[in-house]
Amino acid sequence: MQTLNEMSRVQLDAPRPTPLIQVEGVHKRFATRGGDVVALEGVSLDVAEREFISLLGPSGCGKSTLVRLLAQLDRPTEGSLRLNLPDVDRTAVSVAFQDYSILPWKTVENNVAFGLRMQGRSKKAALAIAHEWLDTMKLAGFEKAYPAQLSGGMKQRVALARALALDPALLLLDEPFAALDAQMRQLLQEDILRQWEHDRTRTAVAVTHDIDEAILLSDRVVLMTARPGRIKEVFDVPIARPRTPEVRYEKAFVELRHTIWESLREEVQAKVAAP
Ligand code: ADP
Ligand code: MG
Repeated sequence: MQTLNEMSRVQLDAPRPTPLIQVEGVHKRFATRGGDVVALEGVSLDVAEREFISLLGPSGCGKSTLVRLLAQLDRPTEGSLRLNLPDVDRTAVSVAFQDYSILPWKTVENNVAFGLRMQGRSKKAALAIAHEWLDTMKLAGFEKAYPAQLSGGMKQRVALARALALDPALLLLDEPFAALDAQMRQLLQEDILRQWEHDRTRTAVAVTHDIDEAILLSDRVVLMTARPGRIKEVFDVPIARPRTPEVRYEKAFVELRHTIWESLREEVQAKVAAP
């Protein structure tokens, strides 16, 4: 007979047939004064529950557009996009955008605590969680500061703390480290990696320009073409978890970096050559 423990493990490990994200034949066009801009053209992508996916591609290829569609801030012109979010008592989606999206009139701690308060937590509990995340984001001591008093990189860390503190089923990150210096970026990548692997209950889609970051964090790296954005290639990351920062020096990592760059280089060149 199975023990209760074994039974629950079997259930947890059972395959989940329905992907958490199902994007099918999505086109997105924007009408502008200069004519239609095709931002996405025929994008199809499934993301499994608990998967970490990175989107990589030259600027203007539609990465942010795709994230906005996933966040349901906008709708596809054509095609379908389904989120099969687990029906649990948990924030469904949270987003950290490259332009910070934090509230200028709230202190740092209240920016992070705000969403937690909306979830119904007490002020004390919300602040306690906020302080933990601010600590992780190397912002201890800035709890009472206002966004205007912070550098770009610090604001970005506040936005990240806010998104992560909500512990969403789906985490969307749009270049969350873009404004950080290289060292801070590396430290936070490692924090996110550790956090991610600690509980493995979230699904994430992260936009980045940084191939190493994409490989370090992701289960799969999705490479997009220069505009109009299509999916060019999807790379599985053949590196076991839990990962340490040292995996950067492993053969599989170095080879994958090279392969991805060869493919990305063509797109960057195509973009430069375009009128
Ligand atoms: P990325 O994030 O990959 O740099 P975006 O998704 O921001 O690219 O943009 C893709 C293309 O769509 C770009 O050419 C951009 O100018 C255009 N675009 C994005 N949002 C809008 C909008 N609201 N109106 C018009 N054009 C847009
Ligand atoms: Mg973008």
